[in-house]
Amino acid sequence: MHDGRTVPNSKFAAIFDEIANIGATPNEGVTRLAASPEDGVARGAFAKWMKQGGARIAHDAIGNQFACFDWAGDDAPWIFAGSHLDTQPRGGRFDGTLGVLSAGSAALELHEQVSSGRVRPARNLAVVNWTNEEGARYQPSLTGSAVFSGALPLDDALALRDGAGISLKEALAAIGVVGDKGAVPPSPEAYLELHVEQGRKLLEAGRQIGVVEGTWAARKATVRWIGRASHTGPTPMKDRRDALLAAAQGIAGFETVIAANHPLLHRSAARLVVEPNSPNVVVDRATVWFELRGPSVAELDAAGNLALAAFEKVADDTGTQLEIVADALRNPASMDVTLMAIVRRVAQACNFPPETMRSVAGHDAVALQNRGISSALIFIPSVDGIAHHPDELTHPDDVQAGLTVLTAALRHLVEGGFNATRR
Ligand SMILES: [Zn+2]
Repeated sequence: MHDGRTVPNSKFAAIFDEIANIGATPNEGVTRLAASPEDGVARGAFAKWMKQGGARIAHDAIGNQFACFDWAGDDAPWIFAGSHLDTQPRGGRFDGTLGVLSAGSAALELHEQVSSGRVRPARNLAVVNWTNEEGARYQPSLTGSAVFSGALPLDDALALRDGAGISLKEALAAIGVVGDKGAVPPSPEAYLELHVEQGRKLLEAGRQIGVVEGTWAARKATVRWIGRASHTGPTPMKDRRDALLAAAQGIAGFETVIAANHPLLHRSAARLVVEPNSPNVVVDRATVWFELRGPSVAELDAAGNLALAAFEKVADDTGTQLEIVADALRNPASMDVTLMAIVRRVAQACNFPPETMRSVAGHDAVALQNRGISSALIFIPSVDGIAHHPDELTHPDDVQAGLTVLTAALRHLVEGGFNATRR
């Protein structure tokens, strides 16, 4: 298929188009939620492609997929590269998919070079597809990488339930992912992830490659107002305890108080669940997912506390009760300095002078880095910064720049370059 969005390098383009089209519908982008049937098809296509290129496939009990190249023997350390194949509802073609398939493409190229003796591997390499990075179907996001790195217990992750009450364990089983399969590689020496920027900084800087030095912090709170169900007709107004009215005021109050006091924080209320959700019943429970992001934990603390006070006041004003269902802080991450330096040097050598930047969004590389697995995150430009939308686009020459740098960086790491630099 050619729709003007095809990426360069015909081999890469073929697999990219194949997988980016799984779950795609005209004008509505790609819907390939974690552990859905579409995700199952994408996993199968990825595994088939990698196996044809000489990899063996393994998966762990949370469904992280590993395409393994055991080049350097059982005792050799591992290098990982990858991202995620799940998407948001009506998401884009590039987010995550680009990272998995560019790592796969790099691995296949290196495999040819290893086979022909042009690369002498001192490390094994695995291309990884992490489960439920997006957090669209199951919260929290970054589930697979969090389990792999030990930040989230496996049983807790498998017990997560989607909006329909289906557990992640059940959903994975439905697409044939049960328990460990194959020899899952140990924790790697280093992890590289190529991802689209989802912002405009690279375009504004006129650069094709970004090296991420760290991320913003995030505070995510799930807040519920509890009212009382009653008939929307006869119930006297003074007797109503309307949880949806409270949520509406809470959302508006959140924006007002944060805009006034912490205008630079990124903020959202992006999910609302109303119960019982009948046109004739005053809303009993309204649950809202709020989010604040910024570079400083102290500022997120202060802003979050202002928001919670505003939510309390709304509960008082509407005669509802406030319940804080979850309130989690994600610390800002600093990516591995040695790996960053390697990627910068490689990018420079490939004639792509890199931009050093921060990521607002979380990524699997950040989850791993936060648990002590040396990780680097490489960005390529997103047209107009559009993300989580069908119009998400990265130009072919930018994709090629990312592929070139990722492949060269992985070659260096597979030859033992990370450890050599650290010594
Ligand atoms: Zn992503």
